[in-house]
Amino acid sequence: MGTPYYKRLCSDNLSVVARQIRFLEKLLRQFQKRQTPYMTYELTEEQRAFADSVRRFAEAHLAAGAIERAHNPRFPSDVAQLLAKQGLLGIAFDEKDGGQGGTLMDSIIAIEQIAAVCPRSADVVQAGNFGPIRTFVEYASSEQKRRFLPDLLAGRICISLGMTEPDAGSALTELKTSARQDGDHYVVNGTKIFGTHSPDASVFLVYVRFGPGVNGIGSVLVERGTPGFTVGTPSPFMSGEEWSQLYFEDCRIPAENVLLGIGGFKKQIAGFNVERLGNSSRSLALGRFAFEVAREHALIRKQFGRPLCEFQGLQWKFADMALKLETAQLLLYRAARVTDGLPAAFDTALAKLACNQAGFDVSNDAIQIMGGAGYSQESLVEYCMRRTRGWMIAGGSTEILKNRIAEHIFERRFDQRGAQIRAAE
Ligand SMILES: Cc1cc2nc3c(=O)[nH]c(=O)nc-3n(C[C@H](O)[C@H](O)[C@H](O)COP(=O)(O)OP(=O)(O)OC[C@H]3O[C@@H](n4cnc5c(N)ncnc54)[C@H](O)[C@@H]3O)c2cc1C
Repeated sequence: MGTPYYKRLCSDNLSVVARQIRFLEKLLRQFQKRQTPYMTYELTEEQRAFADSVRRFAEAHLAAGAIERAHNPRFPSDVAQLLAKQGLLGIAFDEKDGGQGGTLMDSIIAIEQIAAVCPRSADVVQAGNFGPIRTFVEYASSEQKRRFLPDLLAGRICISLGMTEPDAGSALTELKTSARQDGDHYVVNGTKIFGTHSPDASVFLVYVRFGPGVNGIGSVLVERGTPGFTVGTPSPFMSGEEWSQLYFEDCRIPAENVLLGIGGFKKQIAGFNVERLGNSSRSLALGRFAFEVAREHALIRKQFGRPLCEFQGLQWKFADMALKLETAQLLLYRAARVTDGLPAAFDTALAKLACNQAGFDVSNDAIQIMGGAGYSQESLVEYCMRRTRGWMIAGGSTEILKNRIAEHIFERRFDQRGAQIRAAE
């Protein structure tokens, strides 16, 4: 006689429940392992003092002319020189490289405080701390640093990143621009598009292909005026800022201009996480700028005999906007609080996604709250909306960031390429 049916059922059920509990315990253990330890994101006393001093400097020197700067398509090199004198370029770079020996958080605080007064000038903090200059400082030889850093950190020249190509945008590793060795030179051929500050840059950090595959990608430094290198006629982005197409036609550069050779791609992308945090900080800071302007407006502007802030429809909008700004701020500070090395890819992707979305949504809502005054080019709020829109595409689009986040969640890579392309390789 076998075990009675009801007993079998019971023991089966028990083993199912036990299995489920074991599974849940395993999940919990994995979850606990993945949890970031509790952290607070209050600024330290030193950081608050730094923030106050940057704000005072910005109010004294950048408040006047903020609107004109926002509508000027070209790089504000006068601001770059002013910020350099104030020690706001190279904030987190080593003192031996001519930097200030500060931290990534300090650079973010600088963006926040400058943008709160003059949104356009925050681009200069980006250019002097987070952009291609950051990758350059991370990987350049001492000779390369000696050649370019003094002028870059004094704001006398700026550097532009040549990464994107007509057929290689999100799929960056499909880039074709080649660098072929010829004795003690490299011969560069190809085209780059959309480079920030490209119409004004004196030196370009260009992603090139030394050989096949991802491993074949590295980068070189090309100076404006090098024979075979042409900077095209500037075209405007939606923000009003201009970019120029770059053409390399048998452009010969000395071997000393190689920044990262074969195998350099992964290092470059790791360095690029810093650029992403600069992009995130500006998005968030411009969202905050628009929020503050809309808040003031809602306190003062009266319709139907009442200030706008008394209408519940707008109060709820403000509450949603504040929620987006505050959550994005926490993610940004979490990603930026690396004590050494570069920020982690997952933290950076979450921060950029949240900041890009918050910056754009809040600026867009601010326009709506302010009506015609928000849509007018005199308020800077519409500028914040146009500007933050671009950062949802630049430096890793929101979709590409979500792909990266999903890879972290599932702890595996998801190849985005079609089966046909994979088969051809
Ligand atoms: C303001 C601004 C500044 C920029 N500055 C620079 C710069 O300094 N240097 C430089 O080299 N480039 C720069 N770029 C270019 C930028 O890096 C590219 O625009 C970006 O990588 C997207 O490439 P793409 O425009 O070719 O769009 P595509 O790659 O063609 O993508 C089009 C759309 O498809 C989506 N998509 C693509 N693949 C996937 C996928 N696998 N899953 C889900 N969605 C996908 C994208 O997210 C996007 O929405 C800048 C762009 C902007 C807007």
